Amino acid sequence: MRNILVVEDSPLVLKILEHLFRQEPELEPLFCASLGEAQVLLETSSALFFAAIVDLNLPDAPNGEIVDLVLQYSLPCIVLSGSYDEHRRDELLLKGVVDYVLKESQHSYEYAFRLLHRLESNSHVKILVAEDSEATRHFIRRVLTPHLYQIIDACDGDEALRILQEQPDIDLFLVDHSMPGLSGFELVKLLRQKMKRHEMIILGLSADAKGSLSAMFIKHGADDFLRKPFCPEELNCRVMSCLERRDMLHALKQAALFDSLTGLYNRRAFYEQGVEMMRQAQKSKQNLSVAMIDLDHFKVINDEHGHASGDAALVQFARTLRKTFPDSLLGRLGGEEFALVSQLDGDTVGKCLELLRRQCAALKYASGAPPLGFSAGIYHGAPDDLESLLHLADMRLYQAKHSGRGRSVATSQVD
Ligand code: GH3
Ligand code: MG
Ligand code: MG
Ligand code: MG
Repeated sequence: MRNILVVEDSPLVLKILEHLFRQEPELEPLFCASLGEAQVLLETSSALFFAAIVDLNLPDAPNGEIVDLVLQYSLPCIVLSGSYDEHRRDELLLKGVVDYVLKESQHSYEYAFRLLHRLESNSHVKILVAEDSEATRHFIRRVLTPHLYQIIDACDGDEALRILQEQPDIDLFLVDHSMPGLSGFELVKLLRQKMKRHEMIILGLSADAKGSLSAMFIKHGADDFLRKPFCPEELNCRVMSCLERRDMLHALKQAALFDSLTGLYNRRAFYEQGVEMMRQAQKSKQNLSVAMIDLDHFKVINDEHGHASGDAALVQFARTLRKTFPDSLLGRLGGEEFALVSQLDGDTVGKCLELLRRQCAALKYASGAPPLGFSAGIYHGAPDDLESLLHLADMRLYQAKHSGRGRSVATSQVD
């Protein structure tokens, strides 16, 4: 939970903000209607707050005095204003506010909330600024610092390359084109040979007036480009939109790989990883174990205790499975069917499944619901192809089901 100080006197704006805060269970607003009230609150409990959203025009502070107060306490400060003034905007951004949001539509308020969310993740974002002009480096640092990013400076291309080699976890690289040593272009070309776009964002900078330069930067693998001189707001927006794009891509990838209910690999990802495991095992001439697991009489849980209880059972089963097989490849292949590929031998997999069985029987996933049980089929052998190993395990699972459920079958008469 993050406490947000909101200093605003307009009942209409307060109503909108209250509505938006209700949709944000992780953010807890504390409202003040004047500079005086905010002063008292900050004097006594400034450490409670994560950030502030403030109105520039308050009854006892008509000229943005609230901004200075909030910045004194080093709190990230998002400014709300009823009117747009370019000079005022740049002045505020250079003073150290996070951003300047116009009270004009639902979108502007939503933008303020996007900023709050970004602030939460920004402290993990590392930005390297490669720029030979000290003034520009200073300007960039001044604009980006209020967003809580970790900022590292490099004075030329060679220093930037050294830092990038030493710190491969840099998220965003802001790179000037003309610098002593390696140029921006050369750096981008070099980096993109090794690092894919999702591994590091590159934003090109140049004072060159030619429009073709921005296209060149992007064709060489940069994600975006800024022509110098740029205003603080433009820098903020470009950096933020690049990070949002990257995070969205990451979320999409996660959604494509993992089952959203249990967090285990989904069928497709399980097969992809499984094939890779087979290949590795073939190379090192190792056998592998494969198991298919299906929960017993699961439909009854849904029918008699509701779908939510069924979901809770699946989540708890997956958690226990993961604890029992921490080093194996685990997947939810569908409904209440799970599979694993493991370097453990067949006997050990069997023993671990019996341990899992005892733990599952003790799970309290819904009140009054029956103990959770499962049947399993295990196959241990040469890493042939995944499909046929899973089929062999599945035949054993079928036998386990038909011989009474609640058991594992490791050898089969069907072989
Ligand atoms: P058996 O012992 O023969 O495996 O019987 P079963 O009831 O476990 O198997 P059956 O295939 O008849 O039913 C599986 C049920 O799993 C039916 C389906 O509604 C339920 N199911 C599948 N996916 C989910 C899910 O994501 N959540 C919940 N709650 N139920 C699910
Ligand atoms: Mg006002
Ligand atoms: Mg079942
Ligand atoms: Mg089933």
